[in-house]
Amino acid sequence: MKRELKKQHGVEDAMAEKMMLFDSLPDECSSCTKAFDKKDRDMVISWNVVVREKEGIVRLYCPQCWTAAQNAVANLYGEIDDIV
Ligand SMILES: [Zn+2]
Repeated sequence: MKRELKKQHGVEDAMAEKMMLFDSLPDECSSCTKAFDKKDRDMVISWNVVVREKEGIVRLYCPQCWTAAQNAVANLYGEIDDIV
């Protein structure tokens, strides 16, 4: 029982942390520095966020850079697992 409770709290903490990271979204593409407007619904939907929770890093990629990165860099797939 105790172990399960602890696990549950861990999940809540992770969620809270994730929300905080979302609050601190960059306002530009992490690759080409194109401006990102988080109030623009189309942008929010089409841009890609990569969260590295351990390092507390939030990266934001515009669709163009995201596609280019996927095509060019195979080891990026390690990061894709962390996408929210
Ligand atoms: Zn870009």
